[in-house]
Amino acid sequence: MKKIALLISSIFIFSLLSCGQVKSSESFTAMNTFMTVSLYSSSAKKGQSVCNQIQSRIQELENILSTTLSTSDVYYMNHNNQIPNSLKPELLELLEFSSDMYKKTSGAFNPALYPIIREWGFTTEKYNVPSDKKIEELLLYTDFSAINTSTLHASSPIPAGMELDFGAIGKGYAADQALLILEKNGITSALLDFGGNIQTLGRKPDGSLWRVGIKNPWTGGAACALSLESKAVVTSGGYERFFEDESGNRYIHIFDPSTGRPCDGELESVTIISSNGKYADALSTALFVMDKDSAIEWWKNNPDFDFILLTKNKELIYSSGIKDFIEPLFQFEKISVIQN
Ligand code: FAD
Ligand code: MG
Repeated sequence: MKKIALLISSIFIFSLLSCGQVKSSESFTAMNTFMTVSLYSSSAKKGQSVCNQIQSRIQELENILSTTLSTSDVYYMNHNNQIPNSLKPELLELLEFSSDMYKKTSGAFNPALYPIIREWGFTTEKYNVPSDKKIEELLLYTDFSAINTSTLHASSPIPAGMELDFGAIGKGYAADQALLILEKNGITSALLDFGGNIQTLGRKPDGSLWRVGIKNPWTGGAACALSLESKAVVTSGGYERFFEDESGNRYIHIFDPSTGRPCDGELESVTIISSNGKYADALSTALFVMDKDSAIEWWKNNPDFDFILLTKNKELIYSSGIKDFIEPLFQFEKISVIQN
């Protein structure tokens, strides 16, 4: 068992070549994340070309969505309190999607937390615990419902002081866009690894399912493995991006929009399994914010995806839809399967 866990520490790609399929793979850094695209196609030349198209598209998305690149559309919006003069369809799509998810999750998913996240130092790595007064003051700028997406157009104003950050859905959206490129090029078997975001297309060339490991927050290995096809598997957790104060209190990068403070609940990580990357990404963040009981309740009312929750007391909880496809690889204190 130990040996298996080590082998699955990130992702399994059994690169068996069959049916004349050639494997192409490309790794690069974008969105501050080490990304790897692996795909199977009829020739190495074609495979390389598709990898390059995906890398270019992701770069293009970063140039629109980055909060730090001074030439990006989001940067313009955040610094001018106005939608850019030529509103890009990608930005409109994410604003509309975010508005929908903000409503559906009762504000747990909120892309307008940037002033608060910055104050805590997560963008600059100059970490700081703001005063209660400062947090109260900044919370006034985070009401995303103040943006009316049905009347948005180029040059529309956005509320003064509001700043947006699509960090919680950018990689999921990038995976959706990469899938479009794969499909357009007739690729039927691929695996994209965008940090905590995995996207599988089809099955492996030998017809078997992809095997994806879910990170173990306590050992760094794999907590469980999932066998699947054509699904996004997106994990949000507090164990990678965080800081600690002198007293050892841990502050993570996922924020509770109702308090303006880093989440500090029962969960160690949330993994969402869905065919839509940006939906999975938004939900991995939102369910983490909701915390264990409310996350399960939310799924019962919206069962169009599957989930895996790892709790701080080493419980594994997952939705019944993946019961035949999940393999625990860790000695959990408790395992619970949630039926709808
Ligand atoms: P997720 O859970 O998917 O997202 C958490 C992130 O979403 C947080 O880091 C925060 O930014 C935001 N967030 C926190 N709470 C909420 C909430 N309740 N609702 C909605 N959003 C919330 N990182 C850098 O350090 N430097 C960069 O230059 C940089 N550029 C980036 C450019 C793009 C286009 C994107 C998409 C990401 C970039 N990042 C950069 C990474 C980014 O800052 C986040 O760290 C990363 O996207 C977090 O993803 P995750 O999967 O770990 O967590
Ligand atoms: Mg997310």
